[in-house]
Amino acid sequence: MTDKLHFDTLAIHAGQEPDPTTGAIMTPIYQTSTFVQAAPGDHKGYEYSRSGNPTRTALEALIAALEQGRYGLAFASGLAAIDTVMKLFNPGDHIIVGNDVYGGTFRLFEKVYRRFGLTFSWVDLGNPEKVQAAFTPQTKMLWLETPTNPLLSLADLTALAESAPQNVIVAVDNTFASPALQQPLTFGADIVMHSSTKYLGGHSDVVGGLLALNDESLYNELKFLQNAAGAVPGPMDCFLVLRGAKTLGLRMERHSTNALQIARWLEDHSAVRRVLYPGLESHPQHELAKRQMTGFGGMVSLILEDEQAARKMVSRTKLFALAESLGGVESLIEHPYSMTHASTADSEIAVDPGLVRLSVGIENVDDLLADLQQALG
Ligand SMILES: *Cc1c(COP(=O)(O)O)cnc(C)c1O
Repeated sequence: MTDKLHFDTLAIHAGQEPDPTTGAIMTPIYQTSTFVQAAPGDHKGYEYSRSGNPTRTALEALIAALEQGRYGLAFASGLAAIDTVMKLFNPGDHIIVGNDVYGGTFRLFEKVYRRFGLTFSWVDLGNPEKVQAAFTPQTKMLWLETPTNPLLSLADLTALAESAPQNVIVAVDNTFASPALQQPLTFGADIVMHSSTKYLGGHSDVVGGLLALNDESLYNELKFLQNAAGAVPGPMDCFLVLRGAKTLGLRMERHSTNALQIARWLEDHSAVRRVLYPGLESHPQHELAKRQMTGFGGMVSLILEDEQAARKMVSRTKLFALAESLGGVESLIEHPYSMTHASTADSEIAVDPGLVRLSVGIENVDDLLADLQQALG
């Protein structure tokens, strides 16, 4: 039934038929670890909740639909989703990674998987020759974010998917854009990953991760790993993401209009050295953003004079709460150098100490602007 529906309709209905026995319109929270069998192996499709749970099934069908993919998989966190993808590989395999990624991704790859014999090249994905030069016969995956965290630079999904050799998995962390603004599978990516903790959940009340993909054998491998390693979300967490995702389209519209207005205002402020937002004409990849995204999202980064100015600003906002994370209805502010990206300090992907990152919420934009004004003072 959900084949030809539009995004906003899918967000509310995909994977979520009314409960056949009771008519409950909301997917029940199947808070159970196991399922009774009539005879060994004679069951109704569920045996044990690590392997499968009906609330999780609904969420997995939803993310597949929202990303225009055939298959979805849900995990206990975004990093658990990434970790499960990494278990596809063997010692000696090589992964190319965009040189501006979520700090936790960097930590998982460099501090954990390097110990297991995987090798990584950190590459500027805006430079096609550098990407081409990084492929080796051992390369098994290209991992990227677009827009990136925290520098909001873009990768050309079509160009990168085309440039990767056939046997290389192209995986896109789509957390910042959300499927409401960008659907990487339609540009040729093989796997899309989300931290559903962020925009998909949208209310800062759950930690979760998702994968969406089209290839059946890759899905079967990942499904095997999901059950074998077991980093699955509980049914309550799946329910919260299902509920949050219903308003994703609406929320992303408001996140995007608020963020654009704030980015423009910051661009005119004398204390601000630079504003990074793909919706600004001054963004070097603004044209690519218009081609690849249907909106520019709620994340805005700005560079102040130095670390002291950045620390001062993030301590003075009142509506923008000083916290890690992003993508909730409420606005957040943070200092990547000392917070989310502290694990990259002294590395080749270290961030500017004067950088401040905003997750612009869906509050009234005038209240948000007044808060930023008094904080920059
Ligand atoms: C938060 C985040 C992650 C990690 O997700 P968790 O749910 O915190 O494990 C990965 N990628 C990006 C871009 C993120 O913002």
